[in-house]
Amino acid sequence: MRVTVWNEFRHEKTDDRVRAIYPDGMHQVIADALKQAGHQVRTATLDEPEHGLTAEVLAQTDVLTWWGHAAHREVSDAIVDRVQARVLDGMGLIVLHSGHASKIFRRLMGTSCQLRWREAGERERLWVVEPGHPIAEGLGPYFEVEHAEMYGERFDIPAPDMLVFVSWFEGGEVFRSGCCYHRGRGKVFYFRPGHETYPIYHNPDIQRVLVNAVAWARPSAGPAAEFGNRKPLEPIGTR
Ligand code: ZN
Repeated sequence: MRVTVWNEFRHEKTDDRVRAIYPDGMHQVIADALKQAGHQVRTATLDEPEHGLTAEVLAQTDVLTWWGHAAHREVSDAIVDRVQARVLDGMGLIVLHSGHASKIFRRLMGTSCQLRWREAGERERLWVVEPGHPIAEGLGPYFEVEHAEMYGERFDIPAPDMLVFVSWFEGGEVFRSGCCYHRGRGKVFYFRPGHETYPIYHNPDIQRVLVNAVAWARPSAGPAAEFGNRKPLEPIGTR
């Protein structure tokens, strides 16, 4: 499968703590995990022309992963339109962590996608609440992230078509951490962990979820949707 890993790629350039964890950018760590799973992976970042998401790149992308945080507003609306159109036409989209507030996720959800948060390096326990779902394949009943940023409910999203993970945090909050949606012919998965100052994307359980999510979000071979006024398939009898 052809996967494009998109990253804002700003914190890694300006924050020594982040650079120490992701010297080549977190997109490289995510891309390596997906390459290990046998996918054809390219990366794209905000500061490239057209944010690295030309029409050609998107046409050759089966699944796009999205990490953004500080520069959501710098993402051009024309590129958001282009990504949305590809999702509606069948491309999978995996939205990661602070990507909850990205233009593309808010566009596809239609809500504010806001939440409560706290950065205290606390423990997060992700419970698998849909054990038969392909994104949970190979996981135990739960897995943990030792140091995480907290995201808490209410998370202002539409009710997911399928909820795969629920997080508990040491400080008491809970959160819907793995949310599946269908939009048009495309599939969207939101996955919560991924704060830039912790080595989240080096965690084998997290990498397993990313690999599973890409497999789940792959385009299906169903028919292209047809819209608009149509002639009848058979003559319609008069009554
Ligand atoms: Zn964060």
